[in-house]
Amino acid sequence: MKRRIIILGIDGLEYNLVEEWDLKYLKQTSHVKTNLSDFEVIVTPPIWASMLTGKKIQEIEQPFIKRMRFIANKGNITQVKTPWYTKLGAKILPLTIRRRLGDTITKLLVPDPFKTTYDYLLRTKKYKTIFDYFERTWTNGVPSYGRNVSTPEIKAAMTEAIKGNLKPLVEYAMKTYEQDKKALFKALNEDYELIFWYTPFLDEISHFLIKKKLKLMNIYFDLNKLVKKVSERLNENDVLYIISDHGMEPIPDDPRGGNHSDHGFFSSNTGELIEKPQDLFKLVVSKSPKIKF
Ligand SMILES: [Zn+2]
Repeated sequence: MKRRIIILGIDGLEYNLVEEWDLKYLKQTSHVKTNLSDFEVIVTPPIWASMLTGKKIQEIEQPFIKRMRFIANKGNITQVKTPWYTKLGAKILPLTIRRRLGDTITKLLVPDPFKTTYDYLLRTKKYKTIFDYFERTWTNGVPSYGRNVSTPEIKAAMTEAIKGNLKPLVEYAMKTYEQDKKALFKALNEDYELIFWYTPFLDEISHFLIKKKLKLMNIYFDLNKLVKKVSERLNENDVLYIISDHGMEPIPDDPRGGNHSDHGFFSSNTGELIEKPQDLFKLVVSKSPKIKF
């Protein structure tokens, strides 16, 4: 039996919560916080793109940096400088109006960066990805490689959630999770050398549930159980990596409750570790039968 490499990409999985609840299947043999200090803004698509290519892709990161410049309240995780007009607005306008203005200006001046980048690597074929180093590969879509995490449905559900009605968001997110799980087990039954499974649902709901920890805990336990099930499907030499782009932390004045934390998560069943998300590329490619190092 040939060795398979299976990557479980869990968007928004928080290292500190995996530790706190001691989720041993998620932790595997070795686990680590990944370092995101290379990224100017901690948003989903550029980090996943870096895992697939081994580098920061400017064309994917820049549209998000550009958008961030128009938002006065950034939380504590970005190195983007605030321009003078945003600072002035921050001094003289109440937060709610600033937010609304920021949104309006952003929509007028900056195209939706999620829309322009969700399939960038697939569409342009400008960069080699880990999928180029294996014969039989499978993915259900990763941000920048065919997965749009900012669909009209999710945007509408987020708007409702900010108003206080979490139901549509939780329903949408859990439906996504179920569909993604189904796709994963189907792929595990087939003959692939490289499986890159991805699910965005945890990022979506954690923004709102990070302060409702009991609800979040149930979901983390379910993810832990999912990894147990996957582990039971592995052959002796199969490699299992689990990775997240960033985690989530409570932010006092965020209308959702929380925002992305400044670190990601990685674990392996082999004991191997990486320092930064972009190191995943090298780790995976080094196992390619096509490449001799
Ligand atoms: Zn994310």
